[in-house]
Amino acid sequence: MSIAPDQVVSIHYTLTNDAGEILDRSASGEPLTYLHGHGNLIAGLERELAGKNTGDKLQVKILPADAYGEYDQGLVQRVPRRALKGVPDVRVGLRLQAQTAQGTRTVMVTQLTGDLVTLDGNHPLAGQNLNFEVEVAEVRAATAEELEHGHAHGAGEHHH
Ligand SMILES: [Zn+2]
Repeated sequence: MSIAPDQVVSIHYTLTNDAGEILDRSASGEPLTYLHGHGNLIAGLERELAGKNTGDKLQVKILPADAYGEYDQGLVQRVPRRALKGVPDVRVGLRLQAQTAQGTRTVMVTQLTGDLVTLDGNHPLAGQNLNFEVEVAEVRAATAEELEHGHAHGAGEHHH
């Protein structure tokens, strides 16, 4: 069976950046299972997987526009520390929920300079090429419940 919308696909994958560092991989032999065609994977990877079959292996480079977007300097803001006075232990790498003009966003503290805190609302992988090494482990038809929910259900578990 080849990969098409409304099929449940299991893949083993390793994700690296252009420097060769591993950013993510399917955990300890367990494949990632997703419902194809419902926006559950980044767009570029879904497109590369379409039409592939069980056992197929592929290596693809996904550019930022088809992954987590270009890095947007407009999502970076500097605020005085007192704006975060309810937050204990403000440090670089801390993630916070921030109210912005676009609603609630996750931002990360990327710099502390004197009284100023730099908050970055970009996805951590924005602006990066993503290199995927993928092996298709299984392709099956989705159940009615999976289609209704818009995601795959694993064997004996139900993550939401
Ligand atoms: Zn569900």
